[in-house]
Order: sequence, then C-alpha cells, then structure tokens
Amino acid sequence: MTEVSMTKDAAPPGDPLVVLDDVNKHFGALHVLQDINLSIARGEVVVVIGPSGSGKSTLCRAINRLETIDSGSITLDGQPLPAEGKGLARLRADVGMVFQSFNLFAHKTVLQNVMLGPIKVRRKDKRAAEEKARALLDRVGVGNQADKYPAQLSGGQQQRVAIARALAMEPKVMLFDEPTSALDPEMINEVLEVMQQLAREGMTMVVVTHEMGFARSAANRVVFMADGQIVEEATPDQFFTNPRSDRARDFLSKIL
Ligand code: ADP
Ligand code: MG
Repeated sequence: MTEVSMTKDAAPPGDPLVVLDDVNKHFGALHVLQDINLSIARGEVVVVIGPSGSGKSTLCRAINRLETIDSGSITLDGQPLPAEGKGLARLRADVGMVFQSFNLFAHKTVLQNVMLGPIKVRRKDKRAAEEKARALLDRVGVGNQADKYPAQLSGGQQQRVAIARALAMEPKVMLFDEPTSALDPEMINEVLEVMQQLAREGMTMVVVTHEMGFARSAANRVVFMADGQIVEEATPDQFFTNPRSDRARDFLSKIL
C-alpha cells in the first residue's frame, strides 16, 4: 500500500497542459497582464496569490476565454484557444471554473444544476448524467441536498455544488477564483477539503486564494502576482519561508 502524502511533490507531475506565452491584456490604459509566461503541467496545482487588483482574476478569465487577450498565446493541451464558435464551447467545457460567488442557477435544483452542462454540452443522456451528478454530489458531501434549490443551502454547500457542477463536465483543468472569499469562516474548511481531495487525486488546478494553509499543503507551486506581472514563482516552502522579492515579503507581512 502506498502512503498518501499530505503535501504535494515539488516537481511538476506531467507534460504542459496550460501554456501562457507572452500574454498581454489592457483595460484601456491599464496594462493588467504584462508579458505573462506560465506553464502549468498536467496534474499540477498552482496557487496564485497577490494583492487585490494585480490581475489574478483576469488571468483566470483569460484561460477560459471569458476575457480576450491583446497579444501572446494561450494553449490548452497543445491547442490554441479558439476565439468563438463550437471550438470555444468545447474549450470552455474542458476548463472548469469556480467563482467567489457560486453562480448556481437559482431556479434549478441542485441535481439539475449539475446535470445541465453534461446534457447540453457533452450530449450525455439524461440517465447517465443523473447517475454521474449524484455520484459527484456524494463526493463533495451534499448528496442529500440533491432536490433542494440553491437558496436553501448554506454558502459552503452551494460552493461544493458549484465544484460538482464543474467536475461533471470532466474538465482537463479546474480554475478556482477565490472560492472561499465569500464564505462565513466556519464554512471555509469544508470547501478547502474538497479542493484538497481533488488535488490529491491529481486534478490540474489553478487556485487564486488567500488561504495560505491550503497553498502550503496542496500547491506544487506558488505564483505571486503584483501590478499585472508575475513577480515570483516558487515552491510553497520557498515562498513562505524565504520570499525573494520585496513585494512578496511586504504582501506576506500583511496577510500572515
Ligand atoms: P485581482 O483579481 O488580482 O484582484 P483583477 O484581474 O480583477 O485583479 O483586476 C486587475 C485590474 O483590472 C484592476 O485594476 C481592475 O480594476 C481592472 N479590471 C478588471 N476587470 C476590468 C474590466 N472589465 N474593465 C476595466 N478594468 C477592469
Ligand atoms: Mg480577483
């Protein structure tokens, strides 16, 4: 029997899955992503941290084309991101996204929320979609909430449903943009635990978070952003014990 380690290995586990090459993005005069180069390996967990306004959300949104980029390229599994059309829908299905605000469909039940994408986008039949959805809801610990509506659930439960909904599409990579920032403190851990589990199972993940405990135990790599740039990249251990840049040191002194 192999032992399950609580911390991930430092070495990137697989071949490059998401590759950003010299990516630039402006909002008017604001240069929000500046020459971003980042390669995320299959099975790797990258935690992105940095001050508010540094471009973390824009980076995530660029990866699944919720934002366009001005120059550079982003590839997923060797394919460039399509600008529009069928290719774009397929790409979106390959990139699961979990936001700070859970974004569930309010007028659909929990089960329907998780079944919808696989039926509409993946063309799964209803029975298979339901079976899969129920299994996923069990896995994130809300199997007994399947017939409720989102508003009847706690924030932590809703966010776990949002994770199940994203997983139902069988994405190649999961993006989490501050998934616990809107939660009451007592609900943060139940969401982080689901994310920890996913990380241990080998899901490729990009996680924007201020949860340093999660970063330390789940991340292969920490990417520190400030003012639209990647200022520093390191293993969690290196980053938290010995940050190289003044910006990172300053940031850590404020949040730790
Ligand atoms: P972070 O997630 O690190 O807080 P964001 O990526 O949300 O940063 O934003 C980076 C910068 O871009 C901020 O200054 C923000 O105000 C600006 N910004 C984000 N989205 C837009 C938009 N749609 N239009 C104009 N400016 C934006
Ligand atoms: Mg943000």
